[in-house]
Amino acid sequence: MSRKTRIVATLGPSLEKLVDKVKDYVDVFRINLAHGDSDSHKRYFELIKTQAPDSSILADLPGPKLRVGDIGKVELKRGQEVVFSPDHGIIVQEALFYKSIKPGSTILLSDGLIRIRIKTVDKDSAVGEVLTPGVLTSRKGINIPDMTLDYGLTDNDFRLLDEALSLGADYIGLSFVLSENDVIKAKEKINNRAWVISKIEKNQAVNRLFKIVEESDGVMVARGDLGVEIGLENLPYVQRKIIKVSKLLGKPVILATQVLESMVSNPLPSRAEVIDVANSVYQGVDAIMLSDETAVGQYPFEAIQYLNNIIKSSEDKVKPMRPSPMKSTDDAVAFSSVSLSELSKSEVIAVHSRSGLSVIRVSRLRPKASILAFTPDPVVARRVKLCWGVYPFTLNENPGDLNELVTTLDKKCRELGVRGNLVIVAGDPKMESGRTNLLKLHHID
Ligand code: PGA
Ligand code: MN
Repeated sequence: MSRKTRIVATLGPSLEKLVDKVKDYVDVFRINLAHGDSDSHKRYFELIKTQAPDSSILADLPGPKLRVGDIGKVELKRGQEVVFSPDHGIIVQEALFYKSIKPGSTILLSDGLIRIRIKTVDKDSAVGEVLTPGVLTSRKGINIPDMTLDYGLTDNDFRLLDEALSLGADYIGLSFVLSENDVIKAKEKINNRAWVISKIEKNQAVNRLFKIVEESDGVMVARGDLGVEIGLENLPYVQRKIIKVSKLLGKPVILATQVLESMVSNPLPSRAEVIDVANSVYQGVDAIMLSDETAVGQYPFEAIQYLNNIIKSSEDKVKPMRPSPMKSTDDAVAFSSVSLSELSKSEVIAVHSRSGLSVIRVSRLRPKASILAFTPDPVVARRVKLCWGVYPFTLNENPGDLNELVTTLDKKCRELGVRGNLVIVAGDPKMESGRTNLLKLHHID
């Protein structure tokens, strides 16, 4: 029970044969629905459910991401004039592209490597001039930083969402969320069958960050597209801000993209990558995600090992930042449970939670003690796997009152080898779920 910061690994061709080997390190597997088809998505879900049943699953919806069509490999030279159209030149099929650009727009291709200034636009074609040259290949992403969209969810997303829910996703990733309305719309449809993770990757989303985080169940710092959209130099500050707001509001936050990027083709990470991971641990992110490193990289196992080792070493040395208290009695009880664990030198905070909210309220405070989460609901047990420092257990019985609750947790903790002082925190079993209003300093001889 030592690592508190969670690991999310993207499943792809490189990792699919290693699921059994890495399952003890990977808390959450991510399936990127932007790739593959219904058959391959189903195969991936089944692979995780059979080989890593204790890991939870993040199904990531692509959102309105624009991509270049099948163009093979094209070298674009500085100053060159290029044509965009659905069937020749740089092929772009989505009508949204031609609607969203205007003369003077600067667009970025291939994660920002190539920059093009648009000169003229027609209904389904455009002409531009290459500002930053490079080699462009099929299916690369297109970013239009000054594009303001009215919606972040496409019809394709809704189709994929149904598929992901029926396959048993624990979390749904929403790409290119623009405002809290996208989150509200998705949540209506999802109807609490999964947690909604909002990916912050547009300037528009950064401007409405607080509202978006408030409505979401979790947040992702999607540094890939975000970096292209806001400019790389703005990424460090915005990353800090997203982490701070998420922790303030008690929403698990995942740090994503280019975490150990050099390990796509090297068996060792760079020094800068190692230090970036450690700094994120110090800032207290809930989880760190690997993308290409595990999906298509040459060293998926080594990348997971390195991430695990860097996290553990960093957690040993520095206490993560604790967010300010929130103004609610539930949070006051959670806050007291952490103070009590410190004063009583308890190594464990045992949380009983039906909805998962009490678990999140304690996890948010980043206590030194391990958080053992006991819940009668296996769905909740799977979801809180994403939360910092939490070890979930499913209870077969649901305690009816405070005495039963203490007896049940005492028994479970004994079985797990917990001895000495521990703190018990819960919501009153006689009240409706979602509250945190019980606190006990307990002792096991
Ligand atoms: P993606 O999202 O990998 O689905 O694009 C993460 C990011 O943009 O960083
Ligand atoms: Mn993205």
